[in-house]
Amino acid sequence: MRTNEPALDNASRGRGRGHVVVVGGGLAGLSAGLACADAGARVTLLEGRPRLGGATWSFERNGRWFDNGQHVFLRCCTAYRGFLDRIGTAGQVHLQDQLAVPVVAPGGKTAWIRRTSGLPAPFHLAPALARYGHLGLADRVRLGPAAVALGRLDLADPALDQVSFADWLATHGQRPAAVDGLWGLIVLPTANLPASEVSLAMAAKVFQTGLLSQADAADIGWAAAPLAQLHGESAATALERTGGTVRLRAKVDHIGPPTSTGLVVVADGQRLQADAVILAVPHTAAASLLPAGAIPHPELLDGLGVSPIVNVGVVYDRRVTDHMLAAGLGSPAQWVFDRTEAALGGEGAQSSSEEQVLGVSLSAADQWLGQRPEQLSDMITGALAELFPAARSARVLDTVVTRERAATFRAVPGTAALRPGTKTAVPGLALAGAWTDTGWPATMEGAVRSGQAAAREALHHLSRTAGAAHGGTGDWPSEVPARDPSHNITEVLT
Ligand SMILES: Cc1cc2nc3c(=O)[nH]c(=O)nc-3n(C[C@H](O)[C@H](O)[C@H](O)COP(=O)(O)OP(=O)(O)OC[C@H]3O[C@@H](n4cnc5c(N)ncnc54)[C@H](O)[C@@H]3O)c2cc1C
Repeated sequence: MRTNEPALDNASRGRGRGHVVVVGGGLAGLSAGLACADAGARVTLLEGRPRLGGATWSFERNGRWFDNGQHVFLRCCTAYRGFLDRIGTAGQVHLQDQLAVPVVAPGGKTAWIRRTSGLPAPFHLAPALARYGHLGLADRVRLGPAAVALGRLDLADPALDQVSFADWLATHGQRPAAVDGLWGLIVLPTANLPASEVSLAMAAKVFQTGLLSQADAADIGWAAAPLAQLHGESAATALERTGGTVRLRAKVDHIGPPTSTGLVVVADGQRLQADAVILAVPHTAAASLLPAGAIPHPELLDGLGVSPIVNVGVVYDRRVTDHMLAAGLGSPAQWVFDRTEAALGGEGAQSSSEEQVLGVSLSAADQWLGQRPEQLSDMITGALAELFPAARSARVLDTVVTRERAATFRAVPGTAALRPGTKTAVPGLALAGAWTDTGWPATMEGAVRSGQAAAREALHHLSRTAGAAHGGTGDWPSEVPARDPSHNITEVLT
């Protein structure tokens, strides 16, 4: 049942062995809700907005679909891919057989980052990097030792979170050309901060997990359908099939302290009784909802900060590039994606016209947040014309600008210690969200992992309380089984 009605008390009636209320319908909340429902719990998910999907959403304009921002994943994002499998949309994404990224400079000069099949990590990238034409020979030779040193860092060492990635790179022989021409191209979109700002701890996680530990880990995947269809709508259907309830426009304003009958969640003045609660809202909203004493210093969550992402969608009257994705070097168009198929609704959709829709992603976009959409549009269409010569003679039919001011937390040195874990001091209350202590950057993978961890915590609590009520152990599974993957200018303010 999905409804906009605020009659929350109805949701607390019905079948089920324990009632889990999930607050927040982003990927963390959706995966948490599904994991609890799959384990047999009765789930009510409360989302403040009129749609699900949280930071991943889409809108229609002039018959084309645009996402709020390009969302990319890697083959190593097993939790996210398992989530897609669970909600039945794993077939609505593309996943490269083999990592291959053209890095294009103004004028069109292109060098490739690609893996060579048959070579184990970390040597799988060596042949491509040895020929990587955007760096001189001396810089290319220096890449290897730095990569080896990065791969050997101990991610559990708190000292890694005391220094920026750029500082560490400098002490490992990496000159500015290598930082701009290679390391920064990868860390900027994955951690949403430049190498000069991002914590070494976060960068090391990205490189170790994505590039240095397993050869196929960094094969890139992206949505072939609008994100709203890929995530929110499909997850809602999956949750409802389990008997769960999704309530939209249900903004939670209070979570009460625990009582003998569990926890009380209040949304728009309506009370909802829960056996366990999973709080899966952004960190900017979590502190004010946490009951007193739930985590030691909720005020420190502010320290996680925010980092923006700006996205510019450009519709051309013809094809201007054959690349499905490309990184722009020395260009404001940091990463460019061919979004034509998704813009038409996905599922192999084809246009009767020759038009091409490009999505251009600007990470760590503080400097562009204040610019007018016309300025951003001019900047990006100009940059695309420099990268792809065919764009110079193409007509721009439409451009769409989206700005996400708080796209992710700001993973600067010192933030690792500010990310709380799943468990809180309030029995039955668990935390989820890409900003919690997943070890991952603020990603879809991190969000899904956090949701699954919170579900485990909630189920464990139900197990304990059911056991206490019946004088024995409860019958809740102690583990949420991991799911392996089977295989004209518009500005939108957010
Ligand atoms: C433009 C952009 C591009 C990105 N690109 C990538 C990418 O390429 N790859 C990648 O992996 N990640 C990317 N990310 C990050 C990724 O989207 C997020 O990390 C992830 O989706 C966060 O999920 P979440 O569930 O933790 O939080 P959210 O998605 O923020 O969900 C939290 C939900 O809680 C709801 N909520 C808040 N307060 C309340 C309340 N009081 N009551 C009820 N509900 C409430 C919100 O409305 C929201 O729906 C990108 C993010 C953005 C914005």
